[in-house]
Amino acid sequence: MTASEIRALFAVASRPEVVSLAGGMPYLSALPLDVVGATIGNMINERGAVALQYGSGQGDPQLREQILDVMAPHQIEAHPDEIVVTTGSQQALDLVTRIFVDPGDVVVAEAPSYVGALGVFSSYQAEIAHVPLDDDGLIPEALDETLTALRRAGRRVKLLYTVPNYHNPAGVTLSAARRPRILEIAERHDVLIVEDDPYGLLGFDGDPLPALRASSSEHVIYLGSFSKTFSPGVRVGWAVAPHAVREKLVLASEAAILCPSAFSQLTVSTYLETHDWKHQVGLFREMYRERRDAMIEGLEECIPQARRTHPQGGFYVWVTLPEGLDSKAMLPRAVTERVAYVPGTAFYADGQGRRHMRLSYCYPTPSRIREGIRRLATVVNAELELQETFDSRPGARPGGPGPRAGVQSPGPEIT
Ligand code: PMP
Repeated sequence: MTASEIRALFAVASRPEVVSLAGGMPYLSALPLDVVGATIGNMINERGAVALQYGSGQGDPQLREQILDVMAPHQIEAHPDEIVVTTGSQQALDLVTRIFVDPGDVVVAEAPSYVGALGVFSSYQAEIAHVPLDDDGLIPEALDETLTALRRAGRRVKLLYTVPNYHNPAGVTLSAARRPRILEIAERHDVLIVEDDPYGLLGFDGDPLPALRASSSEHVIYLGSFSKTFSPGVRVGWAVAPHAVREKLVLASEAAILCPSAFSQLTVSTYLETHDWKHQVGLFREMYRERRDAMIEGLEECIPQARRTHPQGGFYVWVTLPEGLDSKAMLPRAVTERVAYVPGTAFYADGQGRRHMRLSYCYPTPSRIREGIRRLATVVNAELELQETFDSRPGARPGGPGPRAGVQSPGPEIT
């Protein structure tokens, strides 16, 4: 486990004069904090002796019932017994990996992938095999080829890790047509799917697509979270897992933390029960859609040379810079121009990603986003000019250090 070289830079990037398009933090000022405060006060008055006590390793039974309702739009039908409440979905990722992965086993993950998941996999000494995605998400043919090649090479593939909805960092969604194909391929190769879905309710148009878990209860572990639809501070997530896995998850969780926080679970449970949480999620969606639009318009206007994804939900746009530009080498200059982003290299285990960057639109207001993109355009244009100057001198192309493999954590605020 190593800290990222860019970690120190993010300390600077959190200064108020910097427009941070780096962080993945939900915009909590949009929550009715007075209502949440009163809810917690009432909850402690009425159920304090339970909320402040140890609880069950599997999680509060009432909350597990309510989670069924939260997952209903994804067409997941499950029993509360199949649910294990965790300390954010991050802990569920840790537990699943702990149970299944031995050093040297392979975890297949999208290229790019959520940096926090890569960190977990490498902390258990898994080898990560990346499979490319495009605007329709993970590419089935590429997955089949990779799994076939790994099997031929005698490798043990334990998990396929995927974020099908509003991908972090790529901003793309696995199309409806591809979902059954991904399931079929994983089943044929006997690989368990970890379907990580913290953004699933934050779509901007129409109803969510059916989850992979909706068509397979045996080959999929589904991970959900209240971090993006309510609060990451409560640290409440969950896993829906086949029976045998669920038992091991509970044992592994008890070994790690005894039980998830009863206080946090009852806070979430009371909030869901007493507040129109679906309306609140609708408000979040509207707000994030407006911010997505500000970012896309800004990119089209100010950095037309860059390719970008067009997220239909979630928090992130994935940008591909013109050939020759290096997002990691460029970051210190961007911070000097008072704008920050996450370089693409953070999202690969093998040093790829220098031409890419992740931009988040979740936290800054639309006008700050526009200003951030204007500042970013200044940096990109300066880099392009520099490149032209060097290119016109024979043999004198600027080159940073070569790609570096290995997963590095840039810190929790930006994951
Ligand atoms: N998975 C993905 C894809 C994420 O983006 C995040 C948070 N950034 C997590 C899991 C972890 O979320 P939490 O532990 O807060 O539920």
